Amino acid sequence: MLTPTSGSPNGSTTPGLVCGHHHLYSALARGMPAPPRQPVDLTSILHQIWWRLDAALDLEMLHWSAMLGALEALQSGTTAIIDHHEGPNAIEGSLHVIADACAEVGVRVKCAYGVTDRWQDSGELWPHDGTPPPAMTDAARRGLDECARFIRAGGNGMVGIHAAFTCSDETLEAAAGLARDLGVGVHVHVAEGAIDTPAAARLEALAAENWLLVHCVHLDRELPGAIAHNPRSNMNNAVGYARPATRPNVTVLGTDGIGADMLEEFRLAYVAHRADDVTASPDTAWSWLTNGWTMMPEAAADTVTWNYDHVDSPWHIAFTPGIRALDVTSGSGEVLLRDGQPTRVDAVEVRAKAAEQAQRLFARL
Ligand SMILES: [Zn+2]
Repeated sequence: MLTPTSGSPNGSTTPGLVCGHHHLYSALARGMPAPPRQPVDLTSILHQIWWRLDAALDLEMLHWSAMLGALEALQSGTTAIIDHHEGPNAIEGSLHVIADACAEVGVRVKCAYGVTDRWQDSGELWPHDGTPPPAMTDAARRGLDECARFIRAGGNGMVGIHAAFTCSDETLEAAAGLARDLGVGVHVHVAEGAIDTPAAARLEALAAENWLLVHCVHLDRELPGAIAHNPRSNMNNAVGYARPATRPNVTVLGTDGIGADMLEEFRLAYVAHRADDVTASPDTAWSWLTNGWTMMPEAAADTVTWNYDHVDSPWHIAFTPGIRALDVTSGSGEVLLRDGQPTRVDAVEVRAKAAEQAQRLFARL
């Protein structure tokens, strides 16, 4: 339960919030040119939008995308992000770019590079016709190397997998083995759409309690690990309702790259739960929000002051859109946000630089 910090008689302060699944690389995507063809399902949304966008990224674009995403997180009272990155033409060094950008703004981040065999060594896109790619690609090997390099250098990270349906068994086994060797979990999209329903069977022998399983809309059996529930993204991609309340796993809330406003995501999680079960209480979605501290406990030491007096009450927050973070103070006592503005970076400059990089990105698309 979020509880008011001592010295806050009205309940207007909370610890820093946690975004349990983000893609900081996608912060520049809004306003991008329309895809060549109208996507009609999750697979074509991935093909037409996200796999074109991530292939066009270079490290300079990634830097300003992560700066913008971190800024927007801080201004939303979110002080910790669990990020999942992909960018097949700028793999090496990418996790340090993301971590450095977050550190500059003052937001905590746990990074992962999501490996995939969707681009074959020939340069062809795997057709995703129901059979997984046959073998580990060079790009997947380089993605695993990036995770290993970042974590062995002391970075806070996980091993990332895009999703089972774009990976060979060889890649899934290598990623799970690397995570075991490094003593970290795996951050992986699981059964987001119907196309990835076979994921659970393929991951069953590999998954562990420290894994972060994202979406799980079409999960056909229990897997160990925490589930990251992304209600806005799931609605936006029309993949169905994940029913996290019916799972035994710890559930955390993520945005899947659509900002990091976790009170907004909580409201969406509540109303999506309610749409499925009219007896649902906001206490359930609230527990998903506060479970973020099991993944990023450092954020619990940060303090956010809000422009609203009842942030200790799920029933208030569920029905109060537009609550804003005024001040954020880190666990070490540093003021990171004052009157809604970041103290370490110039918000106007970050937005201007990000807009420049977005134009470069859109030109490539
Ligand atoms: Zn995602």
